[in-house]
Amino acid sequence: MLDGKNYIGNQVSKRGTVVFKTINPVLNTENETEFFEASPAEVDEAVRLASEAFPVFAETSNKDRATFLEAIADEILGLGTSLISTYCSETGLPEGRAIGERGRTVNQLRSFAKLVEEGSWVEAVIDTAQPNREPIPKPDLRKIKIPLGPVVVFGASNFPLAYSSAGGDTASALAAGCPVIVKGHPMHAGTGSLVASAIIKAAQKTKMPNGVFSHLNSCSNRVGEELVKHPQVKAVGFTGSLRGGRALFDMATSRKEPIPLFAEMGSINPVVMLPEMLKNKHSEWAKTIAKSVTLASGQFCTNPGLLLGIKNSDMDQFIAALADEISDIAPTSMLHPNIAETYANNKAKMMKEPGTTTVAEYPNEVAPNFGRQTVLKVTASAFKENPKLHEEVFGPYTLIIECQNLEELEIVVAKIEGQLTASVIATKEELRGYDNLIAILRERVGRLIFNGVPTGVEVCQAMQHGGPYPATTDSRFTAVGVDAIKRWIRPVSYQDCPDELLPPALKNSNPLGILRIVDGTYTQAKL
Ligand code: NAP
Repeated sequence: MLDGKNYIGNQVSKRGTVVFKTINPVLNTENETEFFEASPAEVDEAVRLASEAFPVFAETSNKDRATFLEAIADEILGLGTSLISTYCSETGLPEGRAIGERGRTVNQLRSFAKLVEEGSWVEAVIDTAQPNREPIPKPDLRKIKIPLGPVVVFGASNFPLAYSSAGGDTASALAAGCPVIVKGHPMHAGTGSLVASAIIKAAQKTKMPNGVFSHLNSCSNRVGEELVKHPQVKAVGFTGSLRGGRALFDMATSRKEPIPLFAEMGSINPVVMLPEMLKNKHSEWAKTIAKSVTLASGQFCTNPGLLLGIKNSDMDQFIAALADEISDIAPTSMLHPNIAETYANNKAKMMKEPGTTTVAEYPNEVAPNFGRQTVLKVTASAFKENPKLHEEVFGPYTLIIECQNLEELEIVVAKIEGQLTASVIATKEELRGYDNLIAILRERVGRLIFNGVPTGVEVCQAMQHGGPYPATTDSRFTAVGVDAIKRWIRPVSYQDCPDELLPPALKNSNPLGILRIVDGTYTQAKL
């Protein structure tokens, strides 16, 4: 089924001269299919088509867009086992994870379909006119959110389905009425291509305009750069490294017309272990944290990369128990030889930083591309002075910080940069004494977790998957849950517009029956 071509709207195309293959990291061999990197002309054509599709797609009804999103979900399921086997052969992740991630992807699409069909997501606000107001009359003002225009989505290496071709960024942008051009991740080009074929089928079946979706192969920075700089692109979604995200953000904001680039980047997700809980349950927490650190070989943006506690004999026992657990877990394959090599290099650099000692490293030899999980330890004073120790090591790695007392713990936490999450492991009673610590943590994160590990991101509306820089480039938005749609819309007001010219969401009769704010009150009533 795989032919290595790009999807430029409804056409398949391979006009480029650069080819590449994906790698099966478990077998350490190349997969068969040759993929054709999109040429500059193909990039331009995909954006041009998206731009032409935009005015038509933006005006499709909520019902029609919901039907499109549901059809994508159905077509993805229709790919059956070929999608699952391609996913596994390109990532080294097990079949259970592939099936689980496909389920999450399909559910995300369906939840955006539900949101769009219900209609209130446009956040309609109506302030009616007061012609007799003194000293000047008040005009009739009505505001809703409208789509931004063509959106570029960068596929994420560590979520080939849920954060890639039909992942949360794509689903939310399509839901908003924005055509999408995906820059596929080179490590799972086949998985991306299959999903793209499903999206195109769904678009054709539901009569969406040609160009509503394109999928471009790439194995170098060129394609991404051309897309971000293209004048007809209006916003970008990215998940990956801080280096990549920051470079693309700078490109997006230094264009003649700057555009928003929502990047979700590095996070070390501090876990603060308080004394009473460690006294009672150090071995249970050692087990839980070891599992979280090694889950999918640590290749999650929510991997717990920093453990903090106050030095005492309970903390010592926790560290010893964690070392045992870490040494016992069988390592698994990482996503790609490059990621495995980067992990090994970054870990080795951390081991050489002044003051670090190795608490545990998986003791046996492992197959190529498998990540040997590692726990290091450092004093709070060494950590405070050395920003290198604050950097993400993407993989099954965590660093323990031993503080002398609460005061030092607070000082260390205040030094940590923006994060997706922070966890506090504590008894209910002892939490009361740590208000200040919790307040300092909250300033740094998008999600504060009590007695839980950061891995495992529930997909629901109350989830905040974002955080202050460098976790993301804009802490006001989330990349998970239906509120992710807010990244791709902008407000527009209509002043004294005749009713017949207003969009349905703002008409007096409220034909969509949506929830609106009318003169300061939430209501579904007509005017
Ligand atoms: P990446 O290196 O940031 O690349 C992500 C995507 O962005 C790739 O498709 C890449 O395109 C593109 N890209 C990167 N830099 C670019 C630039 N300067 N100009 C244009 N395009 C650029 O991330 P990755 O490939 O997913 O994994 C590498 C590392 O990222 C990992 O080792 C890890 O450190 C980190 N990572 C972190 C998270 C997280 O959530 N914290 C998630 C995934 C990865 P091409 O490959 O086509 O050039």
